[in-house]
Amino acid sequence: GLAVACRRVVHIYRAEGGDVVALSGVDLSINPGEMLALVGPSGSGKSTLVALLAGLMRPSAGRVSVGTYDLGKLTDAEVSRLRGTEIGVVLQGAARNLLPYATLHRNIWLAQRRAARTAGIELDDPERILDLVGLRGKATAKIDELPPGARQRAALAVGIAASPGLLLVDEPTSQLDTHGRDEVLAALETVNHERGTTIVVVTHDAEVGARLGRAVTIRDGRVGAEGRGGQDFAVV
Ligand code: ADP
Ligand code: ADP
Repeated sequence: GLAVACRRVVHIYRAEGGDVVALSGVDLSINPGEMLALVGPSGSGKSTLVALLAGLMRPSAGRVSVGTYDLGKLTDAEVSRLRGTEIGVVLQGAARNLLPYATLHRNIWLAQRRAARTAGIELDDPERILDLVGLRGKATAKIDELPPGARQRAALAVGIAASPGLLLVDEPTSQLDTHGRDEVLAALETVNHERGTTIVVVTHDAEVGARLGRAVTIRDGRVGAEGRGGQDFAVV
C-alpha cells in the first residue's frame, strides 16, 4: 500500500457568493496498508479532502503526497494517469456510473484496459478481483441484475481493477441495509488484508467508522479527534 501525507493543507472554493474555506490546515499521515475512516458532520470537508487525495483538484496551499508523488506538483496528465492505476477512486454514486447492461467482467475489463493503456502494468484476472469483493462466480451477471450491496461491491471491483496502492471510497454504504453494508465492509477488509492496499473511507455511519482500523474526525476543515473503534463517534 501507499503512504499518504497531508501537510498544512488548505482548500478554498472560489464561489459566486464568496470564498468558501473547505479545509483550513489539515495535517494527516496514513501508513502504507492502513485502513482509515474519515468521519465528521456534513460540510466539514471530507469530500474535499478525498478529491485532493484523488488529484481531482489541487490544494490552495500545503502539500498532499501519495507514495513518492507530490500531487500538487504533477501535471494534469500525470495525475490522471495515477488515478485509475495507483490511486483507485470510488466516489459517491460510483455504482451508478457502471455500465448497467454490461456484465461485471466487462466493467472490470474496461477499467483494466484504460489502466493498461496509460501505464503498461500487469493486471489481475477479473475473477480474482471478483473473489476479493465477494462476487465470485458473478462475472457474467449484468450490473442492473445485482442487488444494491452487490452493485456497490461491483463499483469497488472496478476501483481496484488496476491494483491501486491507495483506494479512496466515499460513503460506500449509505444506501444499503445492514446486510449490504456488512458485505461491503467485508469486501474492503479483504482487499486491505490480502493486497495491503491503503484504504480511506469517508462515512457518516458510526458503525462503519467503528469497524475500520482508525477513525479521524474532520470538523470545520480541520482534523479533530482521532480514535480507535468507536470512541469518538458519539459526538459525530
Ligand atoms: P463533506 O464532504 O464533509 O460534507 P465537503 O468537502 O463536501 O464536506 O464541503 C466542505 C465545504 O466546502 C462545505 O462548506 C461545502 O459547502 C463547500 N463546498 C464543497 N464543494 C464546493 C464547491 N464546488 N464550491 C463551493 N463550495 C463548496
Ligand atoms: P457530500 O455528501 O460529500 O457532502 P455534497 O452532496 O455536499 O457532498 O456535494 C455534492 C457536490 O456538490 C460536490 O461536487 C461538491 O463539490 C458540490 N458542492 C457542495 N457544496 C457546494 C457549494 N456550496 N457550492 C457549490 N458546489 C457545492
